[in-house]
Amino acid sequence: MDPIKLLKAHDLKHTRQRVRVLEEIAMDNVAISQPELEKRLGKEIDRVTLYRILNTYEDKGILHRVMDLNGTANYAICSPACSAHHHHDEHVHFNCTRCFKIYCLEIEVPGIKMPKGFTANAVSTIAYGICEKCNFI
Ligand SMILES: [Zn+2]
Ligand SMILES: [Zn+2]
Ligand SMILES: [Zn+2]
Repeated sequence: MDPIKLLKAHDLKHTRQRVRVLEEIAMDNVAISQPELEKRLGKEIDRVTLYRILNTYEDKGILHRVMDLNGTANYAICSPACSAHHHHDEHVHFNCTRCFKIYCLEIEVPGIKMPKGFTANAVSTIAYGICEKCNFI
């Protein structure tokens, strides 16, 4: 994943801070929580700026947000199919109850038929349990 290409593809100017945020998130194939990002980038990017960058990325379809067991926001890189205001990250997320990491799994969220009168714009599925790393420690 090339942060500068990704920003260009979404019509965003690449500032140093924006690139840094993407670099941190792309390092793992797991989602990163907002507090963890603050910890890692605190010296370079202040809280408010980080918050603004994350919001922009979510709006533009670069990152998707997943809430974990404790209600903390976690961010992961989107699939290339995502665009501004149209996310297509309909995959299952996995929240490990031991290391608390959130994984994006390549499993499609099963289609759920809504009752009459309800319009679902997104459906999220989170599985809780022990991840592969924790299972083999
Ligand atoms: Zn997305
Ligand atoms: Zn784990
Ligand atoms: Zn995901």
